Formats: sequence, C-alpha cells, structure tokens
Amino acid sequence: MTRFIFVTGGVVSSLGKGISAAALGALLQARGFRVRLRKLDPYLNVDPGTMSPTQHGEVYVTDDGGETDLDLGHYERFTGNPSRRSDNVTTGRIYSNVIARERRGDYLGATVQVIPHVTDAIKEFILADLSGEDFAICEIGGTVGDIESLPFLEAIRQLGNELGKERALFIHLTLVPWIPSAGELKTKPTQHSVKELQAVGIQPDILLCRCDRPIAAEARRKIALFCNLRPEAVIQALDVDTIYQVPVAYHEQGFDVEVCRHFGLKTNEPDLGGWRHVVERVRHPENSVSIAVVGKYTSLLDSYKSLAEALAHGGIANNARVKLNWIDSEVFEREDAVRHLEEVDGILVPGGFGERGAEGKVLAARFARERKVPYFGICFGMQMAVIEAARNLAGIAKAGSTEFGSCSEPVVGLMTEWMRGNEIERRSSNSDLGGTMRLGAYDCELSPGSQVAGIYGSARISERHRHRYEVNINYKNRLEQVGLRFSGMSPDGVLPEIVEIPDHPWFIGVQFHPELKSKPFAPHPLFTAFIGAALEQSRLV
Ligand code: GLN
Repeated sequence: MTRFIFVTGGVVSSLGKGISAAALGALLQARGFRVRLRKLDPYLNVDPGTMSPTQHGEVYVTDDGGETDLDLGHYERFTGNPSRRSDNVTTGRIYSNVIARERRGDYLGATVQVIPHVTDAIKEFILADLSGEDFAICEIGGTVGDIESLPFLEAIRQLGNELGKERALFIHLTLVPWIPSAGELKTKPTQHSVKELQAVGIQPDILLCRCDRPIAAEARRKIALFCNLRPEAVIQALDVDTIYQVPVAYHEQGFDVEVCRHFGLKTNEPDLGGWRHVVERVRHPENSVSIAVVGKYTSLLDSYKSLAEALAHGGIANNARVKLNWIDSEVFEREDAVRHLEEVDGILVPGGFGERGAEGKVLAARFARERKVPYFGICFGMQMAVIEAARNLAGIAKAGSTEFGSCSEPVVGLMTEWMRGNEIERRSSNSDLGGTMRLGAYDCELSPGSQVAGIYGSARISERHRHRYEVNINYKNRLEQVGLRFSGMSPDGVLPEIVEIPDHPWFIGVQFHPELKSKPFAPHPLFTAFIGAALEQSRLV
C-alpha cells in the first residue's frame, strides 16, 4: 500500500522544498521503506526542456529520456533511486493531455473544465506508474497563493479526502524570519501561509519552519496554536552548512518520527551513519583543489546544479575541498585566458547551447591542452575541445560546428539518425526543438586499455545524453593521427562518445552528462578521477 506525502511551500520561494522532500525520502529509506519522489510544476511549458537554464536552472535528464525539473536531481542524489520521466509533470503537459482527449471525443460531449477534468488528470498522474513503493512523496512547485498552483492544490485536497489520513499526509514548508530591528523571530508569515492553505481546504499535518536561528518553545507553541497543530508537528528547519546535513538535521528535530507517527508506523531508528560520514568529509577535507568551470550560464548557479554537486562528490572521494571558479566563457574573447586560468588545478567546460561564448570555450580547451592542465569537457565541452584540436593540431583551420550555421569543415554536425534500442530515430533541421534531442540513457563501449576503461573499470557503460549535434566520425582518422583517441563509441560504432588525449595528464571529453548520475555516497568515477588529477596538478605547482 503506497502512502502519499504532499509537500507544499509558502511565504517565499527558494526555501529548499526539493531538498526537504529529498531528505525526507532519504530518512524514510533509512527506516527501511521504499520511496518514490515526484514533482508537480505549475508552469505552462510541457517540460523544462525548452526553458533557458538561466531562468529555470538545469534541465535534469532521466534514464528514460525525460527532460525534467532539477529537483529530480536532488531526489536521485539523496535516495539513489533513478528518477523517471513520469516523476515530473507540468500544467502544460496536463493541459495538452486533456485537450488531446477532448479532441478525440473522450469526454463524450461533456463541457471540459478545470474541475473535474484537469484535477482528475493531475490525480491520475500522481497515482500512475508506481510499483508498490511504501511512500510517494509529491512536491508541488511554486508557493501557495499563486494562481497557477490552484488546480494542483485542489487535486491533492481531493486525494487527501479520498485516501484518508492513513494514506495521505500534508507537509507545508514556510519561513520564520528574524527581524533584526525587533530582535525577534516572526511567526506571522507562517500563520498567513497556513491560512492560505486552509482556504483551499488543506490542513497541513506537519509544518517545516525554515529559520536561521532556533525557534523558542514559546514561538513553536504559538505557531501550533494558530495553525491547528500539536507543537511536535512544528519542526524547526535550521540553516545548515551543507545540504547533505539536511537528513541528519531534520531527523534530530523529529521530522521522520512525526511522519511515522501520523501513519501509525513503528520502525527502528534510522541508520544515518552514511550521511554523517558524507558530512564529515565535506566539513573536514584534508586537501584542496581549485577548478575553473568555463560556461555561459554562470549568472545562475542552479543551471549547473548537478555539475557542482558531482564536483563536490569528486572532492568527497579524494578528501579534498573543491573550490569552484565560475568563469563566463565570453570573458576570454576580450581578455587573455591565461590570466584567469593560470592558478587553477583543473578546467571543466560543461554542456551548453549556441554560438555565444563558444570561442571562449575553445580557448579554455586550448589552454588546458597546451599547458597540460587536467581538462574535463562535458557534451558541448567535448565538442569544443575536438574543434580546438582539429584547428590547432590537425590544421583544419575552418573546423566548426553546424550548430552555429553552415560550415565548410563540420567537425561537429547535426545528428540526423541514431539507434534507440532496435529503432531508428530520425531528425532534420526542421524538427521541433522540444523533446527531440538524443535524450536519456545510451550504452557506450570503451576501448580496451584506454584511460576511461581504467577509470570505469568496465568495457561497457550507460550514461545519460542530451544533445543534437555529434562529433563527425569522418574526421576520426585525422584527429587520431594527431594524438586524440576516440576511446568510447556507441555500440554500433557510429557515434563518438568519448575522446581522450593519451599524451596529457588528464584530458577527457564526453558526449554525455556523467554529473547526472553522481551521488554523495557513490561519486561518479569520472569526477573522482578528474579531481584526483587536479590534486596531482596542485602538488606540481
Ligand atoms: N549544443 C550541443 C548539442 O546540442 C551540446 C549540448 C549539451 O552540451 N548538452 O549537441
């Protein structure tokens, strides 16, 4: 029997609802339960795939090719469970399904309305594609009071009623701000937010109150009194120095005990030794390395969420603090790259789209190759490194990518067909932009004896993809003659997946996104190896 936990937020956004939901998932797992985490997003895009990373943050890709909200990355990092496309839905997707049904005549002449048709479609989504998990934790995006979240709140209100207390729990996350002039923590915003929720018929069962200092017992009692709760159900969620402290911190405040109490579940205390170990490693590293991340979405660090986490995991594995130096690649087009890159121990060029800033990334790859600084190119970062090598090692001066327009030496070109399982996927330059990239998990074969085969310790790997262009296989021989090695290929031998430079301390470009699969308790081997190489580099200088 699956129990449903609905997580809403109030007062302000960015309180860390996603991390709170993920941490609760981890705590329930540590008590021996099976969990699934889901995100319901109230915006009108069908998925975040077409949204700018600087507006909405990273697009998190699942094994089954879903382009989803970045909170699914937190869910995966905290629970280790691979997310699925069906774990994220938006208003846009719900409406497009409802309208498609209406066009087919499925509603048999009824007037199609938000209630019941849209709310039913939301409920169907919440209940679908579960496989006997003990808990489904559903996070509702946005904050209560937003016009666009109303259908979602109505749907979970109905579900709460239909499932009953034994199978449904409402958690509300709010802010208890410190007002310096009054010298007090204020509970009023929380009271208002709960009223807002009650006005749509939802009585929260547990309040998670974000605060920057402890909430006195008296204030907790006051919140409980006004919000119709027992004081124990008002959990203080203090700021922490690392997100991986959240499961431990919430547990210490009795969060998971309250959840189990609500459902009448008795279990042993959770074993949080693994989380404590991760936190210890984050807080007290023995070494330190600095990495330059040369990208163009550096104005919003959420656009590189999984990447920053994966680099930190590489640090955990190497007992090192990883200092990240975010550099906008366009800077190199005006100023000498050397000035910015001279001091760093490793250079990473992450995924990206479009021409702006591309030449700066090519310069970063060149600097890393020539100065023998560890280089990690991810997706676009691999493509730019190959273009750099084509121009400066193989003498193909006009080497470029057709992503930026027509090109006489398309070293990187549009992928027009590829195999997905036994099926051929076909694309052309006229295809829709949304949902049409090569998306999700694909296998890759590693050349025996290559550096990556050693790093992975295996001959065949599966990694997640999100790209439309590929390194052009027609240039493979010329590039190999000048020192590149195509050490990872798609199983049919057609798509280059990994290039490395054997005559360099660490120079690896991958067409996929390894950062999406790294976990704090299972750092990704490529990130472990890259940070290890940067550590070596730091000892040289
Ligand atoms: N823009 C490139 C492509 O579509 C790279 C994409 C990426 O870095 N994820 O192939």
